[in-house]
Amino acid sequence: RPRPLVAGNWKMNGLKLSARVFASIAQGYDAALRKKLDILVCPPATLTVTFGVVAVGSGVAVGGQDCHVEAAGAHTGDISAVQLADAGATYVIVGHSERRADHGETDAVVRAKALAAREACLTPVVCVGETRAQRESGDALAIVRAQLAGSLPETADRHDLVVAYEPVWAIGTGLTAMPPQVAEVHAAIRDVLTARYGDEGAAIRILYGGSVKPDNAFDLLSVANVDGALVGGASLDAADFLAIAEYY
Ligand code: 13P
Repeated sequence: RPRPLVAGNWKMNGLKLSARVFASIAQGYDAALRKKLDILVCPPATLTVTFGVVAVGSGVAVGGQDCHVEAAGAHTGDISAVQLADAGATYVIVGHSERRADHGETDAVVRAKALAAREACLTPVVCVGETRAQRESGDALAIVRAQLAGSLPETADRHDLVVAYEPVWAIGTGLTAMPPQVAEVHAAIRDVLTARYGDEGAAIRILYGGSVKPDNAFDLLSVANVDGALVGGASLDAADFLAIAEYY
């Protein structure tokens, strides 16, 4: 079984004062938890350096939420993987459904971002997931497979790729996928990863995301091929986020 990863995506939340919340997370990641799992927090870019400094010695990883495909250049308002790495990040989320929806990111763009991340020695967390309409029309698996086919890098190993399944209809809605639905999609993702990357594909972590909270963490994280969580809202509260990690 891959070593679990519990990751927090703070989205567009957090001010300087939030370093206190992050410090509580870092403090709560004690020796017992460290033995069992990895923890990652992806703050807004403005807080990367601050969190990176607070994280020193704690073992908590800091990540970005998106990166540009280029390393530098005339791209106003964007941030590159190299800059995130320079600021202390070791991971970056790419292809989150909010980026795909709000910024028109295609699978090809997501793949280019994953490659840019790896060029900068960041581990990309590649997100996939179907919308409610796609789920209701029975297309969830086909959509996820197509997103993987278009978004994943050609080569990968357990250290330089994480995949996150986030059904769009479960994000920020309080609705979660039922364990059998999660099991079905995660098994399909595992098949794609092993077909593509062989033995390494069996060790690449597949996270579930979408309204993960302390009270549903057990049901979701005990599903086969779920190697951790990508947590939005609940990661803004240190106690809730740590309670999810405590599942392991
Ligand atoms: P919520 O946990 O708030 O539903 O967000 C999930 C998510 O999008 C994490 O990337």
